[in-house]
Amino acid sequence: MNIHEYQAKQLLARHGVAVPLEIPARSIPEARSAADQIMGSGASRVVVKSQIHAGGRGKGSFKNGFQGGVKVASSAAEATDLAQAMLGNVLVTKQTGPEGRTVQTLLIAEGAKIKREFYLAVLLDRASSRPVIMASTEGGMDIEEVAATHPHLIFREQVDPALGIMPYQARKIASALQLKGELFNAAVKLICGVYQTWWESDASMVELNPLAVVGRPDGSEALLALDAKISLDDNALFRHKDILEMRDLNEEAPLEIEASKYSLNYIKLDGSIACLVNGAGLAMATMDIIQHFGGSPANFLDVGGGASQEQVSAAFKIILSDPNVKGILVNIFGGIMDCNVIASGIVAAVLETGLKLPLVVRLEGNNVTQGRNTLAQSGVSIITAGSMADAAQKVVQAVKR
Ligand code: GDP
Ligand code: MN
Repeated sequence: MNIHEYQAKQLLARHGVAVPLEIPARSIPEARSAADQIMGSGASRVVVKSQIHAGGRGKGSFKNGFQGGVKVASSAAEATDLAQAMLGNVLVTKQTGPEGRTVQTLLIAEGAKIKREFYLAVLLDRASSRPVIMASTEGGMDIEEVAATHPHLIFREQVDPALGIMPYQARKIASALQLKGELFNAAVKLICGVYQTWWESDASMVELNPLAVVGRPDGSEALLALDAKISLDDNALFRHKDILEMRDLNEEAPLEIEASKYSLNYIKLDGSIACLVNGAGLAMATMDIIQHFGGSPANFLDVGGGASQEQVSAAFKIILSDPNVKGILVNIFGGIMDCNVIASGIVAAVLETGLKLPLVVRLEGNNVTQGRNTLAQSGVSIITAGSMADAAQKVVQAVKR
C-alpha cells in the first residue's frame, strides 16, 4: 500500500524527522485558511502541493493546461488561486501514465528557501536481505537518472536488522552528504528517525527527495524533509490500524480494490485468457503454460488455499469485467481446497453472469468426484480437461476460434 506525501510526513514526524509546517486541504476554503495560518506564522511563502500517489508532480501538467503540480505562492490569495487550478483536476506526470490522476487533496506547506537538495531512502536490499540506506548529494532529481549518470554519487549503507541503525552509520551518511556542524548533528538525528519510521511501520520503502538544507528568515539553516514517499508491506498492515486508515481508494485500480475486498490476489495483465487458480505457484505455472501453448494470460489470480463459494464467484466476476478476456481457464488443485466448493462457485457465477465465453476447467484433488458431478449436472457449458497441459491447449484453441 502507498500513502500520500502528507501522511508519510506525519509518520516521519512521529519519529522525530523534521518536516515543514504544513496542513492538508480538501477544498478551496480549507486551502485558503491553511495558507492564511501558515503566512500568519511568519512564513514569507507557501507551497501548494498536489497529493497523488505518483512522483514527478513538480514537472507534471494538468489536463486543463495548468503547468506544475507543486507551486510556490507569496501570498494566501495567490495560494488560493493555485489551489483553484489544481483541486479536482487531472494531473499527468511521468509516473501516472497518460490518464493521469485527479487531485483531491492538496498539501499547503511553509515555503522553504532551498539551499541544497539531497536524496535519502531506506529500502530492502534483496541481494543481501538487509535494509539499506541510500543517500546522495544529487537530490531533487530522478534518482534513476543519478544512478545512470553519476553512480559514484550514490552512497549506500547496509543495516543489520537485528541491531538497527548504529549512530556511526548515520554519521557516515551525514559525512557523505558533506554536512557540517549543527546540520551534521541534525542529519544524524534525522537519518535515525527515517530508519525508525521504516522499521516501525513495516515499510518496504521510505524516500525523501528532496531532503533539503533550507534558509530560515532569521538567517539560520535547517535540515527538512520537503518531500516524502512511503510504501508499506501489505502483509504487515494488520498490525498498523492507524496506517491502514490512511489508505486512499481513489488512488487504487478499481478491479484490484474489488479483489482485495474478497482477499483475492488479482493482478490485471494484457492478454486474453483469464485464469482462476488456487495458490500463487500454481497461478504462475498456469500463466507460463498458457504462454507455452501460444496464448497470453489476462490476469494473475490466486483465490487462496481455502476459498469460499462467495470468493470464487467474486473472482469470476472480477476476471470477466476485463473486456480483453476471450476465454477462461480454471485450474484448481484441491489440497486444502474442496473441489466441490470451487465447482459450486463456478456454476453460480456462470449462471449469474450469463457467461458466453469458452470456459475450460481442470479440477484435481480433494473431493474431486463430487466437484465434477456438480459441474456435469449443472447444465452449464464447460470444457473439462484432464491435465494442466490439456487445459492450456484447450483454452488456447477455444480462444483462437
Ligand atoms: P515531486 O515532483 O512529486 O517529487 O514533488 P516534490 O515535493 O519533490 O516537489 C518538486 C520540487 O518542488 C522539489 O524538488 C523542490 O525543488 C520544489 N519544492 C518542494 N517544496 C518546496 C519548498 O518548500 N520551497 C521551494 N522553494 N521549493 C520546493
Ligand atoms: Mn520529490
